[in-house]
Parts: sequence; structure tokens; C-alpha cells
Amino acid sequence: MSTASAPSAALAHAIVRLDPISLRTKRFSALTTMILPLIGTAAAAYFLATGTFTATDIWLFVAMYFVHMFGITVGFHRYLAHKAFRTGPVFEAIMMITASMGAQGPVMWWVTTHRRHHRFSDQEGDPHSPNLHGRTFKQRLHGLWYAHMPWMLSPENSKWSVFAPDVLRNRRLMYYHRTYPVWVISGVILPGLIGFAVEHTAMSALTGVVFGGLARIFLANQAAWMVGSVCHAIGGRPFDNEDRSANNWPVAILTFGEGLQNNHHAFPGSYRHGVSWLEPDLSGWLLAGLGKAGLVWDLREPTKQQIQKKREQALAAAAAGSTKGTE
Ligand SMILES: [Zn+2]
Ligand SMILES: [Zn+2]
Repeated sequence: MSTASAPSAALAHAIVRLDPISLRTKRFSALTTMILPLIGTAAAAYFLATGTFTATDIWLFVAMYFVHMFGITVGFHRYLAHKAFRTGPVFEAIMMITASMGAQGPVMWWVTTHRRHHRFSDQEGDPHSPNLHGRTFKQRLHGLWYAHMPWMLSPENSKWSVFAPDVLRNRRLMYYHRTYPVWVISGVILPGLIGFAVEHTAMSALTGVVFGGLARIFLANQAAWMVGSVCHAIGGRPFDNEDRSANNWPVAILTFGEGLQNNHHAFPGSYRHGVSWLEPDLSGWLLAGLGKAGLVWDLREPTKQQIQKKREQALAAAAAGSTKGTE
């Protein structure tokens, strides 16, 4: 949760400046997972334009987009970063592996970055706020762009021992952290193998890798990164979170519910990002089903009274703001 002002002592305690070698490694890894998928997306556009693809490629893209988004939103975000529900080691393995296939960084980097985002939301120390770069139109555009992608190249990291001592102590979770590159590469090769198994041509292996692997990583991550950029700038704000988090339905549809950022910052421990079942939250709907099937349990969510209380607080804050404006 955010506080009115982030004390600089808390910031110094939370962030580590990287030495030159670690910074180079971080930038190399971030750029690789951005540039290779971009090249793959250009290749996919070429194959689409020239008709060099089959229905299998389209299905592979859709299926792997689902796997990718499920892993990141259910696994890394709601399970790992927020502990919104519990599960056994087998379903945990499925979540950690599919999340790693999203190529958004290894377990520890993802969870510590995300918890820091909640701790300093839209204040100094937030790793990807679009609102810290000035108030002119040009500065706001720059902020949106920075919060979308370049923030991943910053020369600082979140301190593991401060933000995720629980994960650091968990040998099973640290295994998925250490083996991250294996899962990223598997997520690129797997659709190529399936494409080959279905179509039996070398070209189908290549287009499987391009559509289900590289282009999927690029396009799914463009949607995911809009959660940090667009959803802290544009959208509805039913709750007063003392930050700029907003509910943006188009982004929520593309990201299985993550675009409901205002709801999420109001109730970060909830497994559901929709406070009503009508808001687009595919991962929340899926988790409710998985809970009924017994695959996950102890699903946390706010009570109706807690939601109502937060709504009333937001209305009171808005009324106080408008009174101030007319004074
Ligand atoms: Zn946020
Ligand atoms: Zn979160």
C-alpha cells in the first residue's frame, strides 16, 4: 500500500545500485527478451502478409498467449507476489514454469519489483510509474513510455531480503528462479515442436517458433506492460488509493484482469481483480473455478462490507476535494 510520502531512508533500504557487471548482465538479458521477440514479430508479419502460415500457427499463438498470461497473472502476480491463494507443489510448478515462459524476468526479480511497485506506488521509488517525469504533455508522454519498457534497464534493483525474504527462504521457488532461462527457451521451442508434430514440415517448426514463441512473447508483454504504464494514467478510479492506479477495461481484457489496477491497489491481497463478477477478470474467474475443483484453496477476497467502506471513503475524499476546489 502507498503512503503519503516515501521517506528517503526507506528508499535507501529498499533499493540496491548495481555494479557495472551486474548492470550489463541485467541490460543484456532485458534487451534480449525484448529485441528477439520484436524480430520474431516482424517475421510473423511477413509470414502473414505472404500467406506462409497455417491455422496451426494461429492456434499456437492463441494457446501460448493463454499459457503466458495465465502464468504471469495467476502464478507470478496473484500467487507469488500477493499470496492471494494457496496450492500444492504440482500446480505451483505449472504456474512458475508457465510464468517464466513469459520472459518477464526470473522469479525473484519479478516478485521484488512488483512488491516495490505496491510499496511506493506512483511515488519516488516506484520502479515503473508514468507519473514521476513532469506535468507537461511531453513529459507525461515520456513517463508513459518509460513506465512501459525502458524502466527495465534502470541501474538499480529491489533488495531481495527486504521485499521477498519468504521467497528467498523457499528452496522450491528458488529452483524456478535459477532455471529461468531453461523455461524461456522451452516456451519458444515447444510451439515449434507442436507445429512440426501437426504439420510435418520444417517450415511449420519455424512458423511455430515465430508465432507461438517469439511473436507471442512480444505481443503478450506489450499488453502486460500496459498495466504499469496505461493503467497508472488512464481509466476509472472507484477507490481512493492515494496513487494514480486506474481501471482500464480494454487492457483488463487483454491481460486477464490485470488492467483493473485501481481495484487491485485497493485490495492487493485479493485473488480477484474484479470487485464485481461483471468486470473483465479472466484470471479471477479461472481461479474461482480452480478453487471449486480443489486445485487451489484459501482464496482471499475482501468482504462486501470492506468494499463498501472503501467506496464510501473514495466518495468522501472526492467530496472533500470538490469542496476545497470551490473555497
Ligand atoms: Zn499498479
Ligand atoms: Zn500487484
